[in-house]
Amino acid sequence: ATPTALMVGTGRGAQLGILIKGPEVLESTRRVDTVVLDKTGTVTTGRMTLQDVYVVDGTDERQLLRLAGALEHASEHPVARAVAAGAEERAGELPVAERFENVPGRGVRGRVEGREVAVGRLFETVPDEVARAKEQAERDGRTAVVVGWDGVARGVLAVADAVKETSAEAVQELRALGLTPVLLTGDNRAVAEAVAEAVGIDRVIAEVLPEDKVDVVRRLQAEGRVVAMVGDGVNDAAALATADLGLAMGTGTDAAIEASDLTLVRGDLRVAADAIRLSRRTLATIK
Ligand code: ADP
Ligand code: MG
Repeated sequence: ATPTALMVGTGRGAQLGILIKGPEVLESTRRVDTVVLDKTGTVTTGRMTLQDVYVVDGTDERQLLRLAGALEHASEHPVARAVAAGAEERAGELPVAERFENVPGRGVRGRVEGREVAVGRLFETVPDEVARAKEQAERDGRTAVVVGWDGVARGVLAVADAVKETSAEAVQELRALGLTPVLLTGDNRAVAEAVAEAVGIDRVIAEVLPEDKVDVVRRLQAEGRVVAMVGDGVNDAAALATADLGLAMGTGTDAAIEASDLTLVRGDLRVAADAIRLSRRTLATIK
């Protein structure tokens, strides 16, 4: 065949802001019919900000912010960055955590100012008023994380990020190429559905633990689908590697980029459609 055409395709890709691991990658795009999109950092900006703070009666808001902020300061997660920055802004300088543990897809826990603190989806049971505050925040399309210490949930922090300006157009372009978009996230269902609606996606798979994202890809493949996956996080790496075509956001983590076949340098989802269009065209000149 003509390796030259593949080389040309690779060079054109670089101009469009697509880094292609090897010319052979273009082959796998041909039969792709489904595109799984990670939510946070892929469809949304991933730059979250703290929006609301809710505390139960008898709990000091400033203390809750200090303890949660101190723990989240040690994490790189978009939710953690929002909490740490918001807490510092509202409560001043944060204490330093004495111990810290990251629980992937769930949150963080550790020791701050002599208390055992947890932030995220880490409480088995929460008081009714905390549950209500959390549900209200989620209905508003926010990601709500529960904060507590010494075994008791004491408040809720609501964070939100914005859908990227280009995401709705990107989904439309992917559909025009005959692909079915699927939104995949570890975040809660209400938030996921709000984002899906904003960009025009019908199929939503939410509340998926990081280690289970790869199973979602495998399940779609077992249904006979040929799957492209677009993601940015450490938690997307296994799914990106397993997908028939893995596309990483260049703005994302090294783990995601290394696991992928293609990197979208600027983190613009529209370029995912460009990539598929380019490789189909390149292959057409060969066949
Ligand atoms: P996504 O799949 O959208 O990229 P993740 O799997 O990374 O999301 O996280 C899923 C959920 O777990 C978050 O929406 C949040 O509720 C919770 N979570 C994860 N990390 C943290 C953290 N550091 N602090 C608080 N909550 C967290
Ligand atoms: Mg992500």
